[in-house]
Amino acid sequence: MDQRKPFIAGNWKMNLSLDESVSLVRAIADSIHDLEGVDVLVGPPFTSLHPVKQAIADAGIYLAAQNMHWESSGAYTGEISPSMLIETGCTHVILGHSERRHIFGETDEWVDRKAKSAAKVGLTPIVCVGETIEEREKERTEEVIESQLRGSLKNFREKGALPSSFLLAYEPVWAIGTGQTATPEQAQEVHHFIRQWLTQGFGTKTAEVVRILYGGSVKPDNIKDLMSMADVDGVLVGGASLKADSFIPIIRFGF
Ligand code: PEP
Repeated sequence: MDQRKPFIAGNWKMNLSLDESVSLVRAIADSIHDLEGVDVLVGPPFTSLHPVKQAIADAGIYLAAQNMHWESSGAYTGEISPSMLIETGCTHVILGHSERRHIFGETDEWVDRKAKSAAKVGLTPIVCVGETIEEREKERTEEVIESQLRGSLKNFREKGALPSSFLLAYEPVWAIGTGQTATPEQAQEVHHFIRQWLTQGFGTKTAEVVRILYGGSVKPDNIKDLMSMADVDGVLVGGASLKADSFIPIIRFGF
């Protein structure tokens, strides 16, 4: 839908040194100064957030952390709170990425608590959902996505309201870092399902404005086809967001 501005996000995961992070964001900033129709976000590791924020200056690039704790402070060794992320200059936080779910045992209940706490301090959550290859092969994709959405957005569902800036990311686990992208039609099918779910839970108005990103081996050569789908409003990019010469063409896919 035309009113949903494309959103291109890079998840740098546990990659790039401080210098590399700053150089990359500077290159991105230089490449988008004439670009108006796209929202751009980078998600560096915690240790690079502050220097990257300083390098972004007024370039209009959103900044995301890749995780956080739901509590605002306390005895949680090794954790980072929502207000700390705000203080560092973050605008967004990626929650429930499949690597957090599968490697670190993050549950829907945790994602729900985190999304609630993030929104409370003004951080926009990017909540990720996605099925494994086994689940897809057993034709359980919709059931799995529905269950993840219901669990991860429980608090918002109970209130019946979701902020319009909220972002959801459909990231099939089998497509992340594998080079095996979902076809545009496979992505559209799940995005449409998610939008219907949003309509049921939050009403048509919210469902029409909340952006749903696709993630999973997005590259310069498949971005256009993915973005041509009616319910694909943007992308969450891992590997290809680590280099200016692959991330910039993705950002500039339509220009
Ligand atoms: C991701 O980490 O969210 C991701 C989609 O990774 P990649 O683009 O490398 O598949």
